[in-house]
Amino acid sequence: MTATESPEAADEIEPVEDFRARARAWLAATLPPAGSEAWDPSPERRARERQLQRTLWDGGFAGICFPKAYGGLGLTPEHQRAFTVESLPYDMPFSMNVPTLGILAATLVDFGTHEQKLRHLPAILRGEELWVQFLSEPSGGSDLAGCLTRADRDGDTYVLNGSKIWSSGAAAADWAMCLARTDWDVPKHRGLTMFLMEIHQPGVQVEQIRQVDGSREFCQEFFDDVPLPASAIVGEVNDGWTVATRLLTHERMAVGGGSPYTSGRSVGHRSTNASDELVGLVRSRGLEGDARARQLVAEARVDQIVANHLVRRTTQAMATGALPPPAGALMKLFLATNSMRRVEIGLELAGRGAVAWPAGETDGAGDTGGAGELGRATLQRQAICLGGGSNEIQRNIISERLLGMPRELAADKDVPYRDVRRAGSREPR
Ligand SMILES: Cc1cc2nc3c(=O)[nH]c(=O)nc-3n(C[C@H](O)[C@H](O)[C@H](O)COP(=O)(O)OP(=O)(O)OC[C@H]3O[C@@H](n4cnc5c(N)ncnc54)[C@H](O)[C@@H]3O)c2cc1C
Repeated sequence: MTATESPEAADEIEPVEDFRARARAWLAATLPPAGSEAWDPSPERRARERQLQRTLWDGGFAGICFPKAYGGLGLTPEHQRAFTVESLPYDMPFSMNVPTLGILAATLVDFGTHEQKLRHLPAILRGEELWVQFLSEPSGGSDLAGCLTRADRDGDTYVLNGSKIWSSGAAAADWAMCLARTDWDVPKHRGLTMFLMEIHQPGVQVEQIRQVDGSREFCQEFFDDVPLPASAIVGEVNDGWTVATRLLTHERMAVGGGSPYTSGRSVGHRSTNASDELVGLVRSRGLEGDARARQLVAEARVDQIVANHLVRRTTQAMATGALPPPAGALMKLFLATNSMRRVEIGLELAGRGAVAWPAGETDGAGDTGGAGELGRATLQRQAICLGGGSNEIQRNIISERLLGMPRELAADKDVPYRDVRRAGSREPR
């Protein structure tokens, strides 16, 4: 599918087990142990993760599957999997994985010009650039091709106006891939273009959105006559849908745990020992002899083993062409439903302890034996069923593009987008 499937110089490739042994020794000598698995969007953690990414780069372990020509190691997904397994006990730059490495850098590998790759990929691998995706809009995210943000040509440049929303971590990021409408006179999928853009520049206003758990990870952006050079176009003018589709495939693989471009734990990667956290919870509540508690822990462990096999089998099938790229939806859907179930199991095991916030963040809830983190997880549990496309959209993809069932009716499919009736804040000229 990509450069990572056929390494650049097969005769020079280090055997996977030699690479694994070298990585194991380097990790033990270089990185501190992993802390809490909780997603920490604080500026301090982000700065720390940039440093960790730089440490990987300096140690020769950044960008394992990225092309050598752009700063990567040009190795295989097997090398990446070996490194990921070895790195699980260590503090790694987790937030670099999604969306920067697994989604946006991966899309740049597929569609970027030589100059774009040379400019950005080594900088990303050194931890100097965090990226974000500007896709969803206030008028709706599932209908991505219904994008209303516009980029109008003005001589050699394009002028961007509109708004994007639900951009994860945009306030702390440096660059974005932004989907905009460049032609209103063709059906919706054919008038879109993908642009690279620097986030913090005149004309771009980034507002953080406060969520129910108090975090401010999500952002909304407002674009007011932002100039974009033609050299910022990714892929072809008016062919942004092709780029966006591939980007979403990378997203499903990265979130589902099957991306060859991410290192260490990612949203979807847990070892079969992840249910050890639930075992710890059971012990802290003295439920070791409780038949129901034992059954729930076993269920979580079985689900995780199934997930790991599903990811491996699906990614291998996608790599050989036995399954088409939309198969990423299988991993994404399973991960989302599995994650929801895991939170429910944790809640049932934690009992009243789950309503308390983690120690140190409350007005004295105190140590809840790890159960308090579940309160936050409960508030966030549906996020994974929406981000990267909702469960319903994954089911549509699986039924239409994998199982060959009839496609959903789309009344606007062949209509020039200018003539499509729609809700939305900005009307075309
Ligand atoms: C954790 C997280 C991170 C995110 N990060 C980003 C990001 O970085 N950048 C970005 O651009 N966006 C991001 N998003 C936004 C995400 O892509 C959208 O939330 C998602 O695409 C759904 O769009 P929407 O929220 O506008 O819901 P809508 O599109 O309005 O959908 C509402 C409901 O209708 C259902 N629905 C819609 N269409 C259909 C259909 N055809 N068939 C069946 N059901 C349908 C949906 O499943 C959903 O339940 C993120 C979201 C989350 C939760």
